[in-house]
Amino acid sequence: MFWTSIQKHPESMKKVPNLLDYDATYADFSWPAIRAELQGLPENRGLNIAHEAVDRHADSPLRDHVAVQWLGSEGATRAITYAELKSQTNRFANILQGLGIDKGDTVCALAGRIPELYIAALGTLKNTSVFCPLFSAFGPEPIFQRMSRGDAKILLTTERYYHQKVHHLRDKLPRLGHVLLVDAGDHLADDLLSLPRLMTEASDAFVIPPTDPEDVALLHFTSGTTGMPKGALHVHNAVLTHYMTGKYVMDFHPDDVFWCTADPGWVTGTSYGIIAPLLHGITNVVDEADFDAVRWCRILAEQRVSVWYTAPTAIRRFMRMGIEPARENDLGHLRVIHSVGEPLNPEAVVWGEKAMGLPIHDNWWQTETGGIMIANFPAMEIRPGSMGRPLPGIEAAIVQRVDNDTVEVIEAPGVQGELALRPGWPSMFRDYLHDEERYRKCFVGGWYLTGDLAKRDEDGYFWFVGRADDIIKTSGHMVGPFEVESMLMAHPAVAEAGVIGKPDPLIGEMVKAFVALKPGFVPSDELRLELIGFARKKLGSAVAPKEIDFKSNLPKNKAGKIMRRLLKARELGWPEGDLSTLEDSE
Ligand code: AMP
Repeated sequence: MFWTSIQKHPESMKKVPNLLDYDATYADFSWPAIRAELQGLPENRGLNIAHEAVDRHADSPLRDHVAVQWLGSEGATRAITYAELKSQTNRFANILQGLGIDKGDTVCALAGRIPELYIAALGTLKNTSVFCPLFSAFGPEPIFQRMSRGDAKILLTTERYYHQKVHHLRDKLPRLGHVLLVDAGDHLADDLLSLPRLMTEASDAFVIPPTDPEDVALLHFTSGTTGMPKGALHVHNAVLTHYMTGKYVMDFHPDDVFWCTADPGWVTGTSYGIIAPLLHGITNVVDEADFDAVRWCRILAEQRVSVWYTAPTAIRRFMRMGIEPARENDLGHLRVIHSVGEPLNPEAVVWGEKAMGLPIHDNWWQTETGGIMIANFPAMEIRPGSMGRPLPGIEAAIVQRVDNDTVEVIEAPGVQGELALRPGWPSMFRDYLHDEERYRKCFVGGWYLTGDLAKRDEDGYFWFVGRADDIIKTSGHMVGPFEVESMLMAHPAVAEAGVIGKPDPLIGEMVKAFVALKPGFVPSDELRLELIGFARKKLGSAVAPKEIDFKSNLPKNKAGKIMRRLLKARELGWPEGDLSTLEDSE
């Protein structure tokens, strides 16, 4: 009904896909069978993500296989084998133990894509502590919010980030015991330590303590529309989803070379940029540099990448630049391309066929789900513009909220509603840290409500429609308007602020703010630039608004809440919809 289909490209059949018959695999699927493909800690001591991702391979014939192929932005490279990754992560786990960091304590990392970040993530999991990545393009305010709400005890970072973004916040972070600097030759103070020195001094032998599958492993912050960021907690049992989606969606085979372009500051960069490929004992390419189309083509060719996971914003950049990677580079090793994070327009799927020699497979998930939930599987016909079908073990539906406790499942195809998942999959988030009430509200009538609007067609493919709330997706990154509005209001000239996502052909949505000024302040281009600069300094480039408009008054509902929906409709010339709740003064 909505679609035209692309037939499978013969290139992608070079290896027999792990999931050949969707319906049969879905029908026969069981999580215990997936668990049986993992090893578990010796002597029945439980299930630990890092054991499955690293030690199990380091103690096997894969020990000398490259686990992480790191490409530095300045041309340096480092190949870390599974055996080396085991000893490095053991050292990091021993450092944490030596500093008194226990099970459940939070270890934050604020760094670019450098080897230490990957070692710290896996070493933290070995110590049964909780790894919490922070996006390095965040400014001091989002970093403070996340470290403070996440009860960070340790921060791993660089000297530059520490001095730019954290040093002046130390007094407000009393729980932060130690900062580990990846580039300090020696300790700078009792609580400001050199990671290289600690790594040299630490033992490379470590026994992973007993790990209950329900022990918390990862803390990922995601944005809300009404409050500060929410800390989604994930447990070690999530490894079942990471493994299963690596097998069926990514279609990992032995000797694959995988490249996930996401930053580990976001959930994709952790679940798939670190964990999933290592679980399958393959080589994980990590590029330190930011997007650069020519460099990316070179990496795909030179590293012989066979499975590539990227995002619509990057694909649209290639399209806009008129670059056709397969024409100028030997991409003969590339077997499958996947995309996630925002809607993948049908033209991009088709562009993949022409410019990459392969179609692009869209998949859908979110921070709370911990892993891919809906996908266009390699062996399945792709419907361009669709997110695909639910993973084996995942029940998805389109529902409509009836009241606070009930939803109705919409069975009819093609009808828009909220995308819902049946709770209970292993990587489902277990809580929002310190915010149980908000967590509970996500579950209604036996379903987890995702906050996304979607449709399902008669063959069970899901089609993304939009967000049910005001969350902004810019360059694939989630931004909560509340966080931006709060920061703008901290400026002495600003009385009120309303923030929306303005559609943008390249980055999906652009963060746009509307502000009303306090008496005595007059709109001007200088003030606009000052506000943009103020927000960039505090929030960082990933979050700050790119456009600011002045308004004498912002539309509010009768409860005094700024109506972002109306701001957006007016900005875009859309119908204004139901205005019955608009405050009289407007
Ligand atoms: P995050 O929690 O930051 O990973 O963002 C999750 C949100 O990104 C989802 O709830 C969707 O709104 C959006 N999203 C993720 N994948 C897709 C996709 N394939 N198509 C459309 N939107 C997506």
